[in-house]
Amino acid sequence: MSFALLERALELDRSDPLSAKRAEFEIDDARIYLDGNSLGALPRAAAERLQKTVQEEWGKDLIGSWNEHAWIDLPITVGEKVARLIGAAAGQTVVCDSISVNLFKLLSFALSLRPDRTRILSERSNFPTDLYVAQGLQKLLGEGRCEVRTVEKEALENSLDESVAVLMLTHVDFRSGRIHDMAELTRRAHEVGAVVIWDLAHSAGALPVALDDCAVDLAVGCGYKYLNGGPGAPSFVYVASRHQQSAQQPLSGWMGHAAPFAFDPDYRDGEGILRFLCGTPPILSLSALDAALDVFQGVELRALRAKSIGLCEFFLEAVLSSEVLGDFELASPRNAEERGSQIALRHDDAYAICRALLENGVTPDFRAPDLVRFGFAPLYNRYVDVARAVHTLERITSSRLYLEPRFAERTKVT
Ligand SMILES: *Cc1c(COP(=O)(O)O)cnc(C)c1O
Repeated sequence: MSFALLERALELDRSDPLSAKRAEFEIDDARIYLDGNSLGALPRAAAERLQKTVQEEWGKDLIGSWNEHAWIDLPITVGEKVARLIGAAAGQTVVCDSISVNLFKLLSFALSLRPDRTRILSERSNFPTDLYVAQGLQKLLGEGRCEVRTVEKEALENSLDESVAVLMLTHVDFRSGRIHDMAELTRRAHEVGAVVIWDLAHSAGALPVALDDCAVDLAVGCGYKYLNGGPGAPSFVYVASRHQQSAQQPLSGWMGHAAPFAFDPDYRDGEGILRFLCGTPPILSLSALDAALDVFQGVELRALRAKSIGLCEFFLEAVLSSEVLGDFELASPRNAEERGSQIALRHDDAYAICRALLENGVTPDFRAPDLVRFGFAPLYNRYVDVARAVHTLERITSSRLYLEPRFAERTKVT
């Protein structure tokens, strides 16, 4: 590694206003973790909270904990902590279920808002589960009521016309990291009378989001990526206040009922956003996410974004100026303003390169068919990690180490 690069990294770390945040995470210094966009690192407070929830609350207070430790309110209290990160005023965000399940609820509701239209418009490169859920709804309702149309990004604006009931998009593309202009697309969709659903899986906790200011209708996002809630942490759902009184969603479980403990045989909608809950909340996961979100206390989202851009730019400049990384093609926008907190590099041997990086202490991830994806978590990644990751990538590439047969073996999760 060039000393100049390392020196600059150390300098940037010294002047990083977020540098103290790293100590709030359980991080193995021997591993450079650049996959916080798939599974965030473990906040120490989340580990402690899990311990407490298991030993004291579950272990000792048992069922009384629903009241005594306010377990029953966690979907709302955690939702309000997420709200600050996504630009949502109080009373519009709740945490429950997975993104997939929540999209089913939101898509159904959104379609019901436009009874004379049938089309859900999305992007072909959207995260597959988002498309699969829409396709499932199409199968359930029949094409006469729900018809999914996917187009390339370039065709989105031209495809937005008065036949569209719902525009469903992911804010930051999971492969390239490209950011959609949320304000502009939401405005365009509203102009033709469509309802908008944004998926914030790669946005929340990585960059500022302004749902209320953009007049977004509905949104979902992920608890286990940049929010660091742990594997399988529940997702969040946002429903703008103006839609809540009319909101109906088909997974009308008892936690969404106006009075769950009245055990009424007939469903009645709960107050506002509460009706988007379905079954019993996963208290262990919610507790971990609750504690994980406290790491964001005192963190300015502008500072978070500045650090994220700093890390990405530092990485890109080093890669693009490297004499041995010429075989990689940049699959993310070059302009930082058009990117989230990740960089994807294209290479024919992307899979083997990922495996070789893993064996050499760097964790990126592979996205089929040919991308090595590096995620930069501004709360705990350092510039020095980035310098070392680039150095490892150079070493693996110039030595052709990645061509060794063991790196070609496929794992179940990539
Ligand atoms: C990670 C991710 C999901 C995950 O969905 P789950 O149902 O919570 O597993 C959905 N959409 C996008 C865009 C993602 O990046």
